[in-house]
Amino acid sequence: MKGWEATRVLQDYMRGDLDPVDHVMMVYDNIRRWEPRVNAFIEIAGEDVVYEYAYNAREQYKSGEPGPLEGLLVAVKDNISTSFSVTTAASRMLDGYIPPFDATVVSRLCGAGAIIHGKTNLDEFAMGSTTENSAFFPTRNPWSLDRVPGGSSGGSAAALAYGGADLALGSDTGGSVRLPAAYTATVGLKPTYGHVSRYGLIPYANSLEQISPMARSVRDVALLYSLISGGDPLDATSLKRIRGVDPWSLKPAEPETIRVCIDYKLLEGAESVISSEVLKIAGWLEAQGASVEEVELKYSRHALPVYYTLAFAEASSNLARYDGILYPFKGEGGRWEDTVLDARSRGFGLEVKRRIIMGVYVLSEGYRDEYYLAATKARRLIRDEILEVTRRCVLLTPVSPVLPPRLGERIKDPLKLYLMDVYTITANLAGVPALVQPSGIIDGLPVGIQWVGYRGGEE
Ligand code: GLN
Repeated sequence: MKGWEATRVLQDYMRGDLDPVDHVMMVYDNIRRWEPRVNAFIEIAGEDVVYEYAYNAREQYKSGEPGPLEGLLVAVKDNISTSFSVTTAASRMLDGYIPPFDATVVSRLCGAGAIIHGKTNLDEFAMGSTTENSAFFPTRNPWSLDRVPGGSSGGSAAALAYGGADLALGSDTGGSVRLPAAYTATVGLKPTYGHVSRYGLIPYANSLEQISPMARSVRDVALLYSLISGGDPLDATSLKRIRGVDPWSLKPAEPETIRVCIDYKLLEGAESVISSEVLKIAGWLEAQGASVEEVELKYSRHALPVYYTLAFAEASSNLARYDGILYPFKGEGGRWEDTVLDARSRGFGLEVKRRIIMGVYVLSEGYRDEYYLAATKARRLIRDEILEVTRRCVLLTPVSPVLPPRLGERIKDPLKLYLMDVYTITANLAGVPALVQPSGIIDGLPVGIQWVGYRGGEE
């Protein structure tokens, strides 16, 4: 696997030790070699176009006014709007759709001198955990081509893992950057809710999701986070004042100051090779002087049905806009109802339809109190519990209960698929930040660990 850091590339650019054009050539060599087997991208910019940008970056470094991401290649998940290329959310419904505007994060990256060279594959509308729900093709895990890269931001993670990008953006509604990070030995951060503008993100479940940075090191994730975070008048849920992170002054915490909490009962739900990774890290930290204590998360162990009830409800409302009239996929039939029915029958994939139907069900008269309202109440209990625990210590958990499955292994059983999210959804329900980083390689397959912190505690 390719292991360079984006922050190192920037330093080399600054010193004049590396030429942006040479660097871009190297990345495109990787893309030529790996992309046909991995299928990480839905669209990739042609080399001529990208070299143009690289020449420009070279000039910027010469003239002494380079942007903070000048000459870096950033891959963007294809549910984040770009006015210069397709934005499909991996759905037939949006095949060929080019938004008339850029997402705020995209404008910020372009303003910082980044080169957005491709849009990456995902589960349709970010609904899934394996990137097999894409309407176009599945993405494969570069570590083992018959395995999934995780999802739904599997394309971004796979591109990073094979060296097809310097940095990448994903979105995380219930684990979509963290699960792929764990499965590809990369790093993913789900920021505090409200820290990154969602303007231009094709919505799946608004109250849960954040556009999220992905990279090959913690420092690189901090770099990307520092540039995309911060208030945005175009997103009413974005917070005006947030504590920023400076990637260049980031230092490891002194071990004696670290208080780690582990829910050992919850840990038992993971395959033993995975739980022993968590214990290994905890033991190592303790040996360095950190404190490790046990917590019992009473409510959070019920997070899965709560998450899926709320996510389905929000999805059914969000996806009502795809009526076969406004967006590229047009319905056929004489009457309005026929047009809508036809478009939604053919334009959506199976998993998306399942979620719309379930979402409408939990919101419908007679069931609303029993399901949707009950879930919102349970969410409050989970949130309060997590806020209380993370004020005292940083939660250490597995990311996925299982190693990367083989393609086709889990996709046919939705419940099995949903269970893969059991460790990641809690942070979304509580709105707190969660970071996934690699911890080890088992039988050639990456394993990650997850840190869940307090609101605004990214650094
Ligand atoms: N796997 C979860 C779901 O399908 C999370 C997806 C995501 O974070 N976008 O809802």
